[in-house]
Amino acid sequence: MTAKRIDGKAAAAAIRERVAAGVREFEARTGRSPGLATVLVGEDPASAVYVRSKNRATAEAGMAGFAHNLPDTTSEDELLQLVTDLNSDARVDGILVQLPLPSQIDATRVIETIEPGKDVDGFHPMNAGRLAIGLPSLVPCTPYGCLYLLKQELGSLAGLNAVVIGRSNIVGKPMAQLLLAESCTVTIAHSRTKDLSAVVKRADIVVAAVGRPEMVKGDWLKPGATVIDVGMNRTDGKLSGDVDFDSAREVAGAITPVPGGVGPMTIAMLLANTLAAARARAGL
Ligand code: NDP
Repeated sequence: MTAKRIDGKAAAAAIRERVAAGVREFEARTGRSPGLATVLVGEDPASAVYVRSKNRATAEAGMAGFAHNLPDTTSEDELLQLVTDLNSDARVDGILVQLPLPSQIDATRVIETIEPGKDVDGFHPMNAGRLAIGLPSLVPCTPYGCLYLLKQELGSLAGLNAVVIGRSNIVGKPMAQLLLAESCTVTIAHSRTKDLSAVVKRADIVVAAVGRPEMVKGDWLKPGATVIDVGMNRTDGKLSGDVDFDSAREVAGAITPVPGGVGPMTIAMLLANTLAAARARAGL
């Protein structure tokens, strides 16, 4: 059996069209556009590419974009001041500070300074806590995109065994919370997990968010499993996921490719979060 290829590009395009329609409706009702501020500190090439794509997508959705590119010598106080200014800027509905930040800046302090209602990355402890206890919140874009693809593929996820590999605050932990909220039986695996392949073998759903190229092999998978590959690993200029696609597609029921799977969904969900934040701020 060859697995179905889950087309994240097509799903993302459909979401972006819906967001663009939502933006027009928002403008008709409020007389202004939803606004997203992006903050890039330094010149990390991968971060610069991500931020450029986010800025382009913001414009394509018809939103107002406020791009702040700061030198890598920026101090923590300077960045905190910018975030504070953006918090009180009425044109700005969403604030995205691209991570990682240079070593002189404490990312946790920066995230905690963002107004939770404008935290479109969903990283503020208030949003993380609300997600954990099942209250409405801004949800981190990558796991939110993974959940969208899983529900599109499988419908109800209730009762399914889900294994999330990775426990970062950005992907693994919120992914597990989202799957738990969908009534999956969730296992979170990490670098200290014993016999990972046996843990993965039980899973109807596998989400790999590790950062190790092609680590998850086809013979680890339960036949018919749905596999979401979050990994974005660049080796010798080639992009690969955390799943060995060629062996996995012979066993899985459905699988996301890299590129063209989760990546495009992250930006689509950022736009959806920005529109949601704008609506909430406008009381709509
Ligand atoms: P982190 O490095 O923050 O977390 C990696 C996790 O993987 C950790 O929990 C770590 O465990 C675990 N891990 C490391 N080695 C192993 C191993 N051998 N076996 C099992 N678990 C292991 O990464 P992120 O969560 O930020 O990102 C994960 C991947 O997703 C990366 O490739 C990243 O580039 C990609 N990514 C893609 C996005 C997209 O838009 N497509 C967005 C964000 C990330 P421990 O906690 O024990 O150290």
